[in-house]
Amino acid sequence: MYEVHVDETFAAAHNLRGYKGKCEDLHGHNYKVRVVLAGPELDSVGLLYDFVHLKQVIQGVIRSLDHKYLNELSPFDVLNPSAENIARYLHDEMTKQLHRTPNGASIAAVTVWETETTAATYRS
Ligand SMILES: [Zn+2]
Repeated sequence: MYEVHVDETFAAAHNLRGYKGKCEDLHGHNYKVRVVLAGPELDSVGLLYDFVHLKQVIQGVIRSLDHKYLNELSPFDVLNPSAENIARYLHDEMTKQLHRTPNGASIAAVTVWETETTAATYRS
């Protein structure tokens, strides 16, 4: 199995409903996101997937969150915008947009860092 990953960043505000602690109050993060694409075969050029296209898909999804108050955006108006839920959301949205990948490649994992030392990963 081959794997490639692309990292991106975005800035956003959130607060966690029902959480007893600092994250209950409105605050922001400079989020880092790592998207891992995996697949069993390479194309004729020797690539699992074109980084340029992968970056475009990732940036397209992330743009909708960048510099936003996440609690006001669907699905985070209902679902808490925790790093875990953000990772799942990004995974699902990017998977929808990458539905036709060559060689059976698919998004294997999305990791969302809230700080340099804390992160959550969603794996399919
Ligand atoms: Zn937070």
